[in-house]
Amino acid sequence: MIKNKRLGTEKSRDKGLGFGESRDERWLWMSGVVDDVEDPIPKIKRLPVADHHLSSPPKKPPSPHSPLSACLMGELAADKHVKYIISIEKKKDSFESVVMEHLRMSGAYWGLTTLDLLGKLEAVDKEEVISWLMQCQHESGGFAGNIGHDPHILYTLSAVQVLALFDKLDVLDIDKVSNYISGLQNEDGSFAGDIWGEVDTRFSYIAVCCLSILHRSDKIDVDKAVNYIVSCKNLDGGFGCTPGGESHAGQIFCCVGALAITGALHHVDKDLLGWWLCERQVKSGGLNGRPEKLPDVCYSWWVLSSLIMIDRVHWISKEKLVKYILDCQDLENGGISDRPDDAVDVFHTYFGVAGLSLLEYPGLKAIDPAYALPDDVVKRIFFGK
Ligand SMILES: [Zn+2]
Repeated sequence: MIKNKRLGTEKSRDKGLGFGESRDERWLWMSGVVDDVEDPIPKIKRLPVADHHLSSPPKKPPSPHSPLSACLMGELAADKHVKYIISIEKKKDSFESVVMEHLRMSGAYWGLTTLDLLGKLEAVDKEEVISWLMQCQHESGGFAGNIGHDPHILYTLSAVQVLALFDKLDVLDIDKVSNYISGLQNEDGSFAGDIWGEVDTRFSYIAVCCLSILHRSDKIDVDKAVNYIVSCKNLDGGFGCTPGGESHAGQIFCCVGALAITGALHHVDKDLLGWWLCERQVKSGGLNGRPEKLPDVCYSWWVLSSLIMIDRVHWISKEKLVKYILDCQDLENGGISDRPDDAVDVFHTYFGVAGLSLLEYPGLKAIDPAYALPDDVVKRIFFGK
C-alpha cells in the first residue's frame, strides 16, 4: 500500500552520498532535485471514503470568458486546510509526525507559511514556536531540523523564515547566524550544506536568500556565488545542482531565485528557459519537474515562481493549473496531495496554497516568488513596517 518511492529506495542509497546518511534524511522544502525521489515525506494513497466524490461540491467548468477570480471563487477548502495543519502538531505519534521528526523545522515553515497565506497565522502559539525553534540552534549559529539534531543550512533558512513570519528576527544573534552561512562558502563561490561538504545550487540559493533577509549579504563573495550558479547553466536554458548536472525545475527555482535576489537575472536566457518551463505543463494542467515525469503539485511552486521571475508566466494555462491544484485537495479532512487521491502532507499543502497564491487565487495573501515568504513579510523586512 505504501508508495514508498521516496524514502530508502535502493536507487537513492546508491547515489554515493558518502557520509552514512541517505540524501532523503536531510531533505527539506527545496528537496525535489534528484532522481524520482522528490519529496521529503513518503506517500500513501488517501484512505477511501465511501462517498468522497459524492460529498464534494460539484465543480463547474470555468467559463472561458469569465475572469479567473470569478469562476473559481470558493473552491479552495481554506478552513479545512487550516484545521489540517493545526492538527498535525497534535498528532505526534502519527506516521507523518514520525517521518517529519528530523525535518520539523522545515515542516514548521511549510505549515506556518500556509497559515499566513490563508490569514490564520494567529491560530498558533507564537511564543511556543519560537521557544522550540531557538532550542534547535547549534553553537555554530546554524539550526537543526529538531532539538538535538545536527545543524544544516537547509534548516537555518527555515528557522530564519519562520522568525520573519512572526516579525521576531530580533531574537537572533544575526552575526552568529550569518557567520555560520558565510563559513560554508567555498573558494569557487559554491556553498556546502553543512560540515560534511556536499555542494549543491540549493545551498547557494539558501545562503543568498538567508543573508539577504538578515541584511548581511556583504558577508559572502556575491560575485563568486553568482558565477558558480551561472556555471551550472545548461544549453536548454535550465540549471543543475552542480556544473553539468541535468536541468530540473527545483534546481531552476533555486538558481533563478538566487540570481533574482542578487540582481543578476541578466544571466538567464529568459525565452529559452521560459520554453523549457512552460513545457512542464501536462494535459491535466499540472506541472512536472522534468520531461516525461508525472505532474506533482509541488512543481506548481518551482516552475511557476521561476516563470514569474523571468516574466513568462503567461506562457502556461493558469486556469488549468488552478484546477489541477484544487483537484488534489482532500475535501473531507483538509490538506493537499501531490496528485489527485494520494494522501495529503504538509509539504504539498504548502506548495499547493503557495502556487494558488502565485496564481492570484482570491482570498489568499500574495507570496514573493524569490523569497518564498508572503509579500507583506518581505516588505516589512526591506522597507520596515
Ligand atoms: Zn512533490
